[in-house]
Amino acid sequence: MKKIDMLADTLKDQRSKKVVFVSHCLLNENTRYLGGAFRKGVVTEIIEKLIEEEVGIIQMKCPEQWAWGGVLKKLLWLSYSSEGTMLYSFKPVVLKLFMIYTKIVYKKLAREVFVMITDYLKSGYKVVGIIGVDGSPTCGVNTKLEMKKSFEYFARQKIATGRDEFNAGLYNECAVDGKGIFFEELQRRLDSKGIVLPIIAHSLIVEMKGEKTVIRHLQNDLKNQM
Ligand code: SF4
Repeated sequence: MKKIDMLADTLKDQRSKKVVFVSHCLLNENTRYLGGAFRKGVVTEIIEKLIEEEVGIIQMKCPEQWAWGGVLKKLLWLSYSSEGTMLYSFKPVVLKLFMIYTKIVYKKLAREVFVMITDYLKSGYKVVGIIGVDGSPTCGVNTKLEMKKSFEYFARQKIATGRDEFNAGLYNECAVDGKGIFFEELQRRLDSKGIVLPIIAHSLIVEMKGEKTVIRHLQNDLKNQM
């Protein structure tokens, strides 16, 4: 028996040896795009359930915060109200560069998460699953915002457009089926090593309507995704 296994046995403690990886904003909505936070801080129905089920919570970095210019995501807003400007006339190039840069940063972040996941698995812990955010172009699991359409939508907006009108139009015009760019990359990495983990989503669209994500038993809900 290895020394580390002997120690784990002798020093056995209360830990559940179960972890779940969650999108950053489920614990901190302060990183949502401006106008996109519908809770003060935490998505309580998800986090309370995880606490109740005694699962360790690993908060992944917010990819948009890292790639798009910090908490305010300043790069994202360059396109806002840009129709008719010089920036807009170079739209194909701008969008292409933006996507290349985004993918480089997201790949690096997805690798970090992947390394953490494999460390937990190799250490004999259970990774119960991953929880993303439907409606996000980055962390969407079943639904995402399409980037080209979103760029066009942002470009057409006026600074004075109200929050409700902005959000309603954004999701009506730009929401499509599929995984967000970061979750796609993370899934690709897991698939490449044959690691199968359940992935579920909290929905930003449901949140926007003032409703809650319904979870009966999180670990069962995650298991059912496999
Ligand atoms: S959904 Fe993902 S990218 Fe968007 S704010 Fe949350 S963690 Fe950041």
